[in-house]
Amino acid sequence: MTTRKTLSILVMLCTLLTPLGVSSAQEMPDFVAQIETEDVMAHVRALSVAIGARPMGSAAEGLAANYVVAALSDWGYEVTVEEFDATAPAEEEDAPGTPIVSRNVIGVRPGDDKLVVVGAHVDSVTAGTGAGDNASGVAVMLATARALAGVETQHTLVFIAFGAEEGGDPPGADVYVEGLGDAASNIIAMINIDSVGVGTALNVYAGAVITWPEDENAAPTIEGGPVWVRDLALDLAAEMSLPFDTSPADTWGGFTGDWSDHYAFVLAGVPVAYFEAWQWAGAEDPWWGQETAEGDVMHSEGDVYAAVVPEKVEMTAEVVAATTYAIATGMAGGE
Ligand SMILES: [Zn+2]
Repeated sequence: MTTRKTLSILVMLCTLLTPLGVSSAQEMPDFVAQIETEDVMAHVRALSVAIGARPMGSAAEGLAANYVVAALSDWGYEVTVEEFDATAPAEEEDAPGTPIVSRNVIGVRPGDDKLVVVGAHVDSVTAGTGAGDNASGVAVMLATARALAGVETQHTLVFIAFGAEEGGDPPGADVYVEGLGDAASNIIAMINIDSVGVGTALNVYAGAVITWPEDENAAPTIEGGPVWVRDLALDLAAEMSLPFDTSPADTWGGFTGDWSDHYAFVLAGVPVAYFEAWQWAGAEDPWWGQETAEGDVMHSEGDVYAAVVPEKVEMTAEVVAATTYAIATGMAGGE
């Protein structure tokens, strides 16, 4: 009797401690307790208030990159800066683009030859100060790097602040993936964080190969890729009682499009999860759904520090840290 009782209590404890779909004797750190709103928002402030707008190729984009270099180095990551030439989009339609120099900041903590990549773009458009898009995402990437700095993992951890995402040709993510060559097949998962501070809902999507029809008004073809990273994140969020969802069936059906840094990884066959705060329901335009009472935020004058909801950024950091941990320790690793 006693033995059986102990056993059932043990089994119950294990069920409580082990994320869904995950099996391991290793216990996940309590990221909800560890990751503090104030620490995460300090990054958003540094990037969007102290530095401000960070157009690709600008001195401000360089300062933001330096900020990431300093943070990742402080936490013991091996940091390299991958500089590249690109063309920034022209202000006027049909005008030639502007040649610029941008860079990716890459922080590595070596493990085995399998990589887990967590990335967010650090550049912004010129309107507003790029607080939501994407100081919030870089803050989540940094909070995750910090939370995992002292944690042993089986696989190599890679944290990246991408440059030139906002229409750069090429964007930093393309440069990084191309630079890896065949080694890109060693990436077991990529987590992209882009614009997680504004909007009604916290979301995580899987990646898909997108084909746009010639008719601009027709829906794109969505060829869905692996969904296990998304589903792992959703399971972990549910376990942590954090309200995360995915894109609705009548829009992207759990997937997302071909914008942002994840797409270079999708095309290289890497399973991805993409975190975003969005407003699928109740927005005037659900395809462009990041509004506050003052109106649209993304890519507008409204994208400033005050528009960012601290709890959204913090909760995203908690789920990204848990997901990264589960994959990097081998607790979870796909189908
Ligand atoms: Zn963005």
